[in-house]
Amino acid sequence: MKQTLECEEVQKLIPYFIDGKTDSNQSLDFIRHIKGCKTCMEELSVEYLVLVGVKRLDSASAFNLNDELDDLIQRSEAKAKRTKNISFLVFILFIIFAIVGGYFLSGFFY
Ligand SMILES: [Zn+2]
Repeated sequence: MKQTLECEEVQKLIPYFIDGKTDSNQSLDFIRHIKGCKTCMEELSVEYLVLVGVKRLDSASAFNLNDELDDLIQRSEAKAKRTKNISFLVFILFIIFAIVGGYFLSGFFY
């Protein structure tokens, strides 16, 4: 199983990440990578500036884009972790139901 993403893959994901279209595993890998990779972090800043910044060049809020990007990264990370925890919980519940269900079924037949 691959643990980390390559720079090239990370940079392809940038527009999707900014749009919030990466799934939780992708987001976590993505964030883990950009936090440790200056090149990709710079690429993300530039693309964020281009994708989000051009929409409001005429407004003062364009000056806070770096803060917004930090905020986006933190929110995405928190959201992705939450989603992962929920999937894990559902998985555990499913296992428990399978075991309990199997127990009752075998009691029914024998
Ligand atoms: Zn990189």
